[in-house]
Amino acid sequence: MLSASTQLFRLSQGQLNLLEACPRKFQHTYLEQLNSPANPEHEERQTLGSRFHLLMQQREMGLPIDSFLQADAQLQSWMAGFADAAPEILTPASDNQTFRESEHYRTLQVQDYLLTVVYDLLIANNQQAQILDWKTYPKPPHKRKLESNWQTRLYMYVLAETSAYLPENISMTYWFVQSEGKPQNIKFNYNTTQHTKTAKKLNQLLNQLTDWLEDYQNNKEFPQVAPGSKTCDYCQFTQRCDRISFTEETVKDTLPNFDSIQEVSL
Ligand code: SF4
Repeated sequence: MLSASTQLFRLSQGQLNLLEACPRKFQHTYLEQLNSPANPEHEERQTLGSRFHLLMQQREMGLPIDSFLQADAQLQSWMAGFADAAPEILTPASDNQTFRESEHYRTLQVQDYLLTVVYDLLIANNQQAQILDWKTYPKPPHKRKLESNWQTRLYMYVLAETSAYLPENISMTYWFVQSEGKPQNIKFNYNTTQHTKTAKKLNQLLNQLTDWLEDYQNNKEFPQVAPGSKTCDYCQFTQRCDRISFTEETVKDTLPNFDSIQEVSL
């Protein structure tokens, strides 16, 4: 089960994304903790991503990182590229008026839920606050897609709700350190209209979650997405849900030419 100290459900942006994408998947993943078998390639990418995050955190804390860089050519190249593309982020302002913290953690209670966020880096002065996030996967998503991701919405929402900054003085920038060529960034400037919209959407989603959790206590499962939905294509729960996965459809459509079937990693 989810951690429920003092009766509050903790929820992260990842859980909100999953809940919105498919409530049944949320049920299987978080309430029943049914995890898919580890994918070694995926795990390796995650480990490298975590090492980059750790390195950036150590750097921000003023700890030496040279030995890590020397031992890992990939990290060295990402760090060099990032230092080249965004030197102002790596060089703290010398005015003593700027607050900087890596892995900055905040929580906000909404209804019976404790929303948690962790900013890779928060830089704030008396005028504005910038949330920064490092991404180590190769291709940046479309800006629209990233804008509607709960990480973007929740991260700026929580900062506006838990600080004195007006939404207009808050921004969030994703840095894609592994983009082809050189690191790229995608920046979002927040505003009051978006803040109101996020508040509404968040409350709707949490109201639904409360209803689904109540139903679940009475042995009713969370809703599934409609049959034929793309969300099922690469889902690990297709068998449980009696849905056809992308892999199965590929096999069905291309029979009997087995040689042409490429393995699709889930
Ligand atoms: S198979 Fe489809 S309906 Fe079932 S959990 Fe996955 S996405 Fe949801």
